[in-house]
Amino acid sequence: MECLFCRIVAGEIPARQVYADEHAVAFLDINPWHVGHTLVVPRRHVDDLLGKPEALTEIAPAISAVSRLLVDRLAADGLNLLSSSGISAGQEVFHLHVHLVPRYAHRPGLRELMVKEQGIDLDRVHHQIVGEH
Ligand code: 5GP
Ligand code: ZN
Repeated sequence: MECLFCRIVAGEIPARQVYADEHAVAFLDINPWHVGHTLVVPRRHVDDLLGKPEALTEIAPAISAVSRLLVDRLAADGLNLLSSSGISAGQEVFHLHVHLVPRYAHRPGLRELMVKEQGIDLDRVHHQIVGEH
């Protein structure tokens, strides 16, 4: 088995598991953005959300449960949810995973995690998405 997260799901590689159900496993990210940064992954191998969007439904109960668990146990003030699909999106492990990042009032704001691109033509983008082809 080549895939790192398949091996974690199978118990071949140790991970700090925080939750598991029939379809999903969640464990602490080894290199966290903030305290409690957790990855929720489907038990079955799925490369990313673009390849199998329906996999999100399978792991949705786990995402909800783990979000609640992290915020309650770590006394977080908020939470970010992110999933990267493809190299261009910054994906490094090609087994679908959702990042759950608890946030704390003393380190607020998504800006801390992401840099915004300037000069984007919102009308053009909107037309590209919903306009006639
Ligand atoms: P990506 O960049 O693909 O969205 O996220 C991959 C994440 O997996 C990174 O945040 C990285 O720290 C985490 N990661 C990589 N290798 C391991 C590992 O062996 N164990 C755990 N728990 N997390 C890992
Ligand atoms: Zn896998």
